[in-house]
Amino acid sequence: MIPSVLPTYARAKLNFSRGEGSWLMTEDGGRYLDLGAGIAVNALGHANPDLIGALTAQAHKLWHVSNLYEIPGQEKLAAKLVDASFADTVFFTNSGTEAAELAIKMARKYHYDKGAPERVEIITFEGCFHGRSTGAIAASGAEKMVKGFGPLMPGFVHLPFGDHDALRAAVNANTAAIMVEPIQGEGGIRPLPDQCLKGLRDLCDEHGILLILDEVQCGIGRTGKLFAHEWAGITPDILMSAKGIGGGFPLGAVLATEEAASGMTVGTHGSTYGGNPLGMAVGSKLIDIVGSDRFLAEVNRKAGALRQKLEGLVAAHPDVFETVRGVGLMIGLKCRPEVTAANFVKAGYEAGVITVPAADNVVRLLPALNISDGDIDEGLARLEMAATAVKEPS
Ligand SMILES: *Cc1c(COP(=O)(O)O)cnc(C)c1O
Repeated sequence: MIPSVLPTYARAKLNFSRGEGSWLMTEDGGRYLDLGAGIAVNALGHANPDLIGALTAQAHKLWHVSNLYEIPGQEKLAAKLVDASFADTVFFTNSGTEAAELAIKMARKYHYDKGAPERVEIITFEGCFHGRSTGAIAASGAEKMVKGFGPLMPGFVHLPFGDHDALRAAVNANTAAIMVEPIQGEGGIRPLPDQCLKGLRDLCDEHGILLILDEVQCGIGRTGKLFAHEWAGITPDILMSAKGIGGGFPLGAVLATEEAASGMTVGTHGSTYGGNPLGMAVGSKLIDIVGSDRFLAEVNRKAGALRQKLEGLVAAHPDVFETVRGVGLMIGLKCRPEVTAANFVKAGYEAGVITVPAADNVVRLLPALNISDGDIDEGLARLEMAATAVKEPS
């Protein structure tokens, strides 16, 4: 008999009832150090007092009105994002997938309005993840996501990761955009080297192609900059944000230059909940905190300390891990084929530490950006236990 909850997830037998900072508690008294943060969502940990304050203050005033009316919270948060980034304008969504949908629409409409309606092709890369809508799975093209769901939205060109010749060959008069994660998350914490991001920017400029960066997972302070592309010293035309931007409240955003957004006029896009007052209150508070230089300097300091300790962990367990990779607090531990990321994650549950598996046999560490030094040490001790345990025949 089918479960009452549609069984699309193979869920771990863990049932958390409370969270505090980087800790998750179960009803029966279990305590887990959370190095997954709900897959890079709980940027300020669980039950952050500042976010609770912002959400509850707004909850007492107004939850929802509709985008038929002015929403001052949108103007406030959009202004902060515009001030802090390359963007001139922002559309708020409830999720990363919705941000992907708008990014795709925006890129095609841009060329359409410029008199080039044939420019519809969007180039993406193997291992990418942009969400689970019909458009977003077509963008990815990965068999495990698309099989059985056709016909897929046409117009996506899937290229191997890091193959420059394939990229040059794929660009043609119908290319509308290149859509890429500066650091692949689901794909296994695979950073695009700064040089490659620069190369993509140049290629786009040369051919009048829009560069869409999917920073749903790697943005909002995760890498030690507010946006990951800042490390490469380039800017996109369109950027997708979500996950960390709401700190656990469902929130996403598309940031764009005035030029790239020029096709998106009245009536071309909409959302019932996107930009609702509750999300805006939380997002504004979160950006105030995460966007500050002091906060980001702390992320970088902690990332450096954690990275050093993880290099030690990998060196101490060469039979479990191959390498550690990533940027800032977006870290991947690549496991040996005999171990498997899934087994390590399970051993972590036994050791009271939460990590997240990804493709390419990688275990993801995506802790709260404000994780304490003490919790980093405790996390390492628990990862150490998991690494020891995963080798023992069960
Ligand atoms: C999670 C994710 C998405 C999809 O976001 P949802 O909020 O789950 O719709 C898109 N792109 C990337 C890079 C992601 O990590």
